[in-house]
Amino acid sequence: MAERRHLETDVLVIGAGGAGMSAAIAAADGGANVLLADRSLIGRGGATIMAMMTVAVAVGEETPDDWHYHYRDTLIAGRGLCKPELARLLCEEGPDAIRQMDGWGVGWARRDGHIAQAHAPGHDRPRCVYVDFLNTGPAVSKTLRTALHKRERARRIGDLMIIDVVRAGNGPHAPVTGAVALDVTTGKAVTIGAKVTIIATGGLTRLYARNSASGNMGGDGYAIGLRAGTKLIDMEFVQFFPIGHLAPRMIGMDPIMWDPFRYKLGGRLLNGNMEEFTGRYGTPEDGKYVVTRDNATYAIMQEVAAGRGSPHGGAYLSFTHIPVEQLKAAFGPVIDKLTTNGIDLTKQAVEVAPIAHYHMGGIAVDAAMATGVPQLLAAGEAVGGANGANRLSGNAITEALVFGRQAGRTALEVLGGGAAFDPADAAASLALVEATGASAREVNTAAMLARLQSLMWEDVGPFRTEAGLQRAIEGIGALDRQLGAVPVGVPNAYDMARLDWFDLRNMLLVARVVTEAALLRTESRGAHQRDDYPGLVEEWTRNQVVVLEGGRAVIEKGPLIPDEKVAA
Ligand SMILES: Cc1cc2nc3c(=O)[nH]c(=O)nc-3n(C[C@H](O)[C@H](O)[C@H](O)COP(=O)(O)OP(=O)(O)OC[C@H]3O[C@@H](n4cnc5c(N)ncnc54)[C@H](O)[C@@H]3O)c2cc1C
Repeated sequence: MAERRHLETDVLVIGAGGAGMSAAIAAADGGANVLLADRSLIGRGGATIMAMMTVAVAVGEETPDDWHYHYRDTLIAGRGLCKPELARLLCEEGPDAIRQMDGWGVGWARRDGHIAQAHAPGHDRPRCVYVDFLNTGPAVSKTLRTALHKRERARRIGDLMIIDVVRAGNGPHAPVTGAVALDVTTGKAVTIGAKVTIIATGGLTRLYARNSASGNMGGDGYAIGLRAGTKLIDMEFVQFFPIGHLAPRMIGMDPIMWDPFRYKLGGRLLNGNMEEFTGRYGTPEDGKYVVTRDNATYAIMQEVAAGRGSPHGGAYLSFTHIPVEQLKAAFGPVIDKLTTNGIDLTKQAVEVAPIAHYHMGGIAVDAAMATGVPQLLAAGEAVGGANGANRLSGNAITEALVFGRQAGRTALEVLGGGAAFDPADAAASLALVEATGASAREVNTAAMLARLQSLMWEDVGPFRTEAGLQRAIEGIGALDRQLGAVPVGVPNAYDMARLDWFDLRNMLLVARVVTEAALLRTESRGAHQRDDYPGLVEEWTRNQVVVLEGGRAVIEKGPLIPDEKVAA
């Protein structure tokens, strides 16, 4: 038999971002033994550590606030598709989660002794807490890593890529008993027996050529969930951020960091001819810079299509009209980081363009984070439904902290319901990890990844048409056939081609689901914009639900969501 390691735990948490670490802490605090596994380094792999801006929460420190107001804003932004029980949990539990982080020393910025809260678009009042300057995600991640470190019951293992979760048999009531993983440092298989498993693997924006993601955000959790029998919802809703950094090269900084400065200082959005242009598309800025994300994305892409884009295919963002002292005060130490990157905002405009940023869809769960598959929970961006068709600024980190903590608590309640791990149930996934395949010279997985990202960007990006989506489905099918059923190479330490193969296995499945769901939704709503079906259609006020049947993704329309659920 191939050399394998086996680990046992009460609770397996897959993914060590904000959601996974919060889940691990809550489960360990309740007395469970926890194994927190990440394909990257613990707390450094996904989006959480990259987020530099704000966290939305009704703590009411800046102005009086109440979670009901936050809830109402979240439902409005979600354009009728939010799962009310999830949006409610996010808003109602947010303040407590944020105060818990405060108690652990995260260092929320303070003004006159109270937690400072910024006003971000879509919120009816200043609601977004942050850690200065642009340090929110790193501080959140560090605080959770430190809290975890103090919990002896929480074991942490990096470089462990979960390939599949394992169920005891096939029936609808078969519980999840653990997982099969690939040890990136050896290439060997690892089996994990767990009484409860939590998927907290983050989002899917790596599917797109232009993205704000790290390399670990290819939608693994969605694919793992689908293969294990969970449902996915709202998969067509990928959020594109209009002014992601494009040029010049900028290292070590959040590509979406320009947003708060633009609002705060009035950064000017200009086309390649240095003209303001959003007014051409019905959304003039009038010096206020309040154009919504979807409208700004539309305007930039139309200017580029008309040949009036900036040299790298976006628009200019200029702060050159702002007095130097005002710039320095607003940007603080960020000015030095920009200087290190050779960017002087007093003299030059930067180039920005839309970028895939967040995924509203994901694994369907109830308010306890239960997936419907026994002993399998999910949390964080891996979950769909809380934000409907469009996410409010700052809601994603709150979602990660609140849903992660909830999943950890639920895990404690269902610990007794599992079954023992049996390697026979894991045979198919183990065979895959231990297989010998074609040489990496025969199957160029890196080129296939680039091809997938480019076709997703071209045809399943911010603006979609039937012809483009059909083209994407054909392209994905061709890549699927090229990938084949056996991983390239042999089990080996840090074999990137082989890891790419496993990434593509997940990414192609998830890309297909996103594209097919986008094709079926014949309307434009929130982040899903169809050039051939402009405008929101009331009949489409329903979620789409995806299941895997006989290896094929089947998409069903959910029931019409009544108006009263939308009105808070
Ligand atoms: C650049 C950027 C800026 C952002 N800014 C903000 C902001 O200001 N405010 C806000 O609210 N939101 C922001 N967001 C969104 C927010 O950061 C995320 O939605 C949130 O952090 C997700 O947390 P998570 O724990 O669910 O996932 P992540 O933090 O992405 O963690 C997922 C983890 O799972 C691991 N993983 C994935 N697959 C596997 C596997 N197969 N096996 C093992 N491990 C796996 C990954 O390595 C990763 O560590 C931003 C996102 C980005 C990319």
